[in-house]
Amino acid sequence: MSSLDRFAQHKLDDLKRRNLYRSMAETLREDGIWVERAGRRLLSFSCNDYLNLTQHPAIKQAAQAAIEKYGAGSGASRLVTGNHPLYAALESRLAAVKQAEAACVFGSGYLANAGIIPVLAGPDDLVIADELSHACLFAGAQLSRGKVLTFRHNDLDHLRTLLAGHRAAYPHVLIVTDGVFSMDGDLAPLGDLNALADEFDAWLMTDDAQGLGVMGGGRGSSFSGNSQVPVPLQMGTLSKAIGSYGGYICGSAPVIDLIRNRARTVVYSTGLPPSSVAASIAALDLIEREPAYATLPVQKARAFTHRAGLPAAQSPIVPVIVGDEQKALDASRLLADEGYLAAAIRPPTVPKGTARLRLTFTAQHPDDAIERLADIVRDRILVH
Ligand SMILES: *Cc1c(COP(=O)(O)O)cnc(C)c1O
Repeated sequence: MSSLDRFAQHKLDDLKRRNLYRSMAETLREDGIWVERAGRRLLSFSCNDYLNLTQHPAIKQAAQAAIEKYGAGSGASRLVTGNHPLYAALESRLAAVKQAEAACVFGSGYLANAGIIPVLAGPDDLVIADELSHACLFAGAQLSRGKVLTFRHNDLDHLRTLLAGHRAAYPHVLIVTDGVFSMDGDLAPLGDLNALADEFDAWLMTDDAQGLGVMGGGRGSSFSGNSQVPVPLQMGTLSKAIGSYGGYICGSAPVIDLIRNRARTVVYSTGLPPSSVAASIAALDLIEREPAYATLPVQKARAFTHRAGLPAAQSPIVPVIVGDEQKALDASRLLADEGYLAAAIRPPTVPKGTARLRLTFTAQHPDDAIERLADIVRDRILVH
């Protein structure tokens, strides 16, 4: 065995010993909710396809038409020749949805965060992140080569203490947080965060990957009714409720122009395939036409938490925390035997001691299947 293979095998053995080894199970997604895995048909509560748009006929049709018209790939980075005409349409749609001046689309949400943060913060600057922020916000923060601090989850007092203690030492301070936390399903206090950022002349950036399409009437977690928290940097993904692929940021015209010029994941990475961009546009059309449809995932999640005796869901994401890695795997297996797909989420994706099932509710989940799932979770998983 070469030293390289020995290195890999040693790391793998260690992961297995700690119940942290992962494998990719081949999964055939038949429609918006059913999947086939190892010959079994399971009702999935693990997809982020909240509005089941990955399989929507009109959206698939839009993607196919884009392939016919513009080809399968974009052929270069957007600044060279990859900026096909669908990009401008998508970016003006996104800016309108977020009530921002402009938008810039990236290859994915991860690429967006890896590109945006180093544009806004450099080695002399400070990035402060909620401790439960998505991994790619931390990746972007590391790439900035600035100082990175974390505040306790949703703890405004702790954030204030950090700002009071550190603000003066840095030319610029960027505060980053998820809008909807991806593994806990709770919401950031965006109004208070925005006010605190203003008070200290810090810049607030929200990652609303899990909010677009399902919160705030489909506009995301900084919207509620007719009011909006004016977050200056609103980032998100097109790969969850939108059902396609890609990431984006909305903001003021100069900020977006700077990002187009300087974000390395835009400059040095190929543009999205036209089909992905077309699918996103079609999905945003659909959400705008049917805003009531966008409220269904949260309603379904609430019906579940009510029946299971859990705290009321704030988003379509409901964590069922069991603590131990092995227990999470056992709970996932028990649900598979009952016909449900509910993936076990383990460290380092979540903090140690909080291994869980992460359930996600989508518009088309049947109510009776949700009730039965709630009964199983209440009577056979949470009792231990
Ligand atoms: C999924 C997710 C991302 C990554 O988006 P991709 O488009 O899948 O790369 C970023 N942030 C949060 C909060 C997410 O949930």
